[in-house]
Amino acid sequence: MTVTRFAPSPTGYIHVGNLRTALMNYLIARKNGGQFILRLDDTDGERSKQEYADGIKEDLEWLGLHWDRLEKQSDRLDRYHSAADELREMGRFYEAFETPTELDLKRKKLLNMGKPPVYDRAALKLSEDEKAALRTERGDGVWRFKLKQERIEWPDGILGDLSIDAASVSDPVLIRADGQFLYTLASVCDDVDFGITHVVRGSDHVTNTATQIQIIEALGGSVPSFAHHSLLTGPKGEALSKRLGTLALRDLREQGVEPMALLSLMARLGSNQPVEVCSTMDELIEGFDISTFGSAPTKFDVQDLFPLTAQINHARPFPDMADFISSLGVPSEVAEQFWNVARENITVKADLAKWWTLFNEGATPLIADEDAEFVAQAFELMPEFPFDDTSWKNWTAAAKEATGRKGKGLFMPLRKAVTGLERGPDMSAVLPLLQKKPQL
Ligand code: GLU
Repeated sequence: MTVTRFAPSPTGYIHVGNLRTALMNYLIARKNGGQFILRLDDTDGERSKQEYADGIKEDLEWLGLHWDRLEKQSDRLDRYHSAADELREMGRFYEAFETPTELDLKRKKLLNMGKPPVYDRAALKLSEDEKAALRTERGDGVWRFKLKQERIEWPDGILGDLSIDAASVSDPVLIRADGQFLYTLASVCDDVDFGITHVVRGSDHVTNTATQIQIIEALGGSVPSFAHHSLLTGPKGEALSKRLGTLALRDLREQGVEPMALLSLMARLGSNQPVEVCSTMDELIEGFDISTFGSAPTKFDVQDLFPLTAQINHARPFPDMADFISSLGVPSEVAEQFWNVARENITVKADLAKWWTLFNEGATPLIADEDAEFVAQAFELMPEFPFDDTSWKNWTAAAKEATGRKGKGLFMPLRKAVTGLERGPDMSAVLPLLQKKPQL
């Protein structure tokens, strides 16, 4: 069975970059009738917060990305301890005592010599006595996984065949000096134990994948299929990493972005298939194909979400909107009519409030000097209130006859005087919705 997972760290709210990962994993699971696991990578007890864990769940639920199983790394520390013991027993795990400053110095030296800044494995040469002395002097060391120095290869679902020389990678630290398990080991244990078959994540994880493949093999697990999607950039190709904080899913929700707009864009952005609005999750699942994604950085412009949101909102049937419209105080007798008149004129749902205020309370007239006299004269000829479907036709006919104005010169000043706007729904539909007679 296909099993995928989305594994955010609850150290912040999730953003569009995380969503890409979540969605791809979700769609692969659903497309294959498999399982989608939400895993909270919360081994960092200091930075992980319940508030963020709750927020992540809320965001995924809002999008309809339902998970079949929830796991927390903090519940699995025993398992990570036993995996660490296994690695120790097979001689693939060693304690190292360099301080961050020492490591930094080593790195700089190598870089100055034009060499890759790979950890020199000096700790492997320490005798038991030397280690004991260092432990007394500096406290516990970190634990590093001893990589086999060979090429690590895998067929990447997006990047194609990859081959990384393990000698160009530092032996990864899997346990910190304070005893905290790092993601690199925890994730491997989880992927193996939960039977993860496919892992899609950002291309910033490519080196992790190489080292994790060796750890999985050391622990006797089977290696999932890996795919690394490109990272998102801003619309001009600029790095998005610093701005991702402003692209949190909850902020987009707050701005009125529709879930399907976000999902439809994210399921296609960076692939060679065009973006099209899907109305159901099934459609999205049907059309998803990971092999259509490319390795080039993917440009993301938050503004693209608004036309898609508008398209979704315009197509909404009234029953979908009834509760929201009623919450604006629109009386039920006119609610459907209001929706049909306003729908084409909104981007986000919240725009309806402004239209209802206009219909309910009227607007401040917008009158150009040259139209003032005409508008005053036309207002005298306004049909009886409340208006009906024929009011606009009758009113403009009367104004035309009295003033000789026609076409745009006749309609536009009246639209502006009644709605305070230059654009909007058909005036013959606007008038019957007005709850008060327009005044100058
Ligand atoms: N917690 C890791 C992250 O958010 C998970 C990476 C992975 O998918 O393995 O980067």
